[in-house]
Amino acid sequence: MKLLRELPQVDKFIKYKEFESYSPKLVGQIAKEVITNTRNEILEGKRTTLDKSDLIQEVIKQYEELITPSLQEVINATGVIVHTNLGRSLIEPEMFDKAKTIATSYNNLEYDLKQGKRGERYSHITKVLQQLTGCEDAIVVNNNASAVFLVLNTFAKNKEVIVSRGELVEIGGSFRVPDVMAQSGAVLKEIGTTNKTHRADYENAINDNTSMLMKVHKSNYSIEGFTSEVGFEEVVKVAQDKNLIDYYDMGSGHMIDLPYGLDLKEPSILKYMEHKPSLMSFSGDKLLGSVQAGIIIGKKELIQELKKNQLLRMLRVDKITLALLEENIKSILLGNINEIPTLRMLLTSTDVLNQRALELQNSLKDICNTSIIQTQTVIGGGTTPNQKIPTVALSLEFKNYKPNKIEKLLRSSNLVGRIENDKFLLDFRTINPKDLKKIEEIIKNTIGNK
Ligand SMILES: *Cc1c(COP(=O)(O)O)cnc(C)c1O
Repeated sequence: MKLLRELPQVDKFIKYKEFESYSPKLVGQIAKEVITNTRNEILEGKRTTLDKSDLIQEVIKQYEELITPSLQEVINATGVIVHTNLGRSLIEPEMFDKAKTIATSYNNLEYDLKQGKRGERYSHITKVLQQLTGCEDAIVVNNNASAVFLVLNTFAKNKEVIVSRGELVEIGGSFRVPDVMAQSGAVLKEIGTTNKTHRADYENAINDNTSMLMKVHKSNYSIEGFTSEVGFEEVVKVAQDKNLIDYYDMGSGHMIDLPYGLDLKEPSILKYMEHKPSLMSFSGDKLLGSVQAGIIIGKKELIQELKKNQLLRMLRVDKITLALLEENIKSILLGNINEIPTLRMLLTSTDVLNQRALELQNSLKDICNTSIIQTQTVIGGGTTPNQKIPTVALSLEFKNYKPNKIEKLLRSSNLVGRIENDKFLLDFRTINPKDLKKIEEIIKNTIGNK
């Protein structure tokens, strides 16, 4: 076993000058593993030669892999604006700078600067939300899933919650309305059928143990054909006639009128608020275009009840979330929706997208064949199920590569596009114009002119 004797000792090995600029502790840990593995390979007869420089290279390779950030920047050229796998909504850098001040200094998170005593964490966001939506009060939790859980647990523990069968949805990442309800302690009372639910179904299901009429946004599916559902404004009426709570888990929730006729099927939060509902909740990072959060707005006495639930302590949000949300709501309040990337992308005209496509096409003309395609995409994130919006894409064609090979190569350089009709596309609906040069370089470097 001559090879075994040639294996370096860890403490001597890590002193090699090749490791000079690395952390000795981490090099030591990795070197120990590499040397142990190599020893086992020798004993098992899997290795017949030993080269110290290979060992050094292996340690450096593993070291570099470990310290490269796992969470990385990606260019979203899929056209899906609220892309759940790619981080949903983006924060504008200038808006982030305002939150940075709060995160990097002491602040009045729970301190009333006027009175000089303990203040309320949620007060910072309540004022702007009241002004924008006309709600009486508001609270913010970790995400919309926790908002649903908190509402049900607070008002419907061991009590019945009436929900239409057509709304018992499962949303990506295994959020199932019936299961969440069971976990919260609420008793589900299903009404109607998959395709049809009527006002009378709600009325007939109400009994002494009913606490709430709940409506859930269908998010990732839609029913076509012979259907009828009861709008939230009508659910509000039925509930308030009977002194019950009405609650809409709106899912995405948006504060503006959506373009491309989407507003007909998907009214804004502001429209629903005209009917003075008891409670509504929605995500902070879907069409609101801010940070991960669940926002609950509605009647003051109900929000006060939510604040008394011990669960809130586990679901509460921190100062960074509150700072970002406050800025986001303020931008909407001031009509500056251009400061919200999600909404800006949604509202960019196809003419502007066309110009950007032309610019990239021009810069790639010596590299590959391209064509500009007028097509459609979706907003995503369960915001507007089955609804398409217009977009412009650039298809890339290389002599020696099929579309799925192009997709894979670019993806490994963090440029994610999509394949449509057997063509690889870069969709300008989600491409930040400041990334055009970067995209050109990635294509040049990963595929070149093959
Ligand atoms: C997305 C969604 C949720 C979950 O919201 P998160 O912010 O992802 O926790 C709950 N309900 C509906 C209807 C949704 O669309």
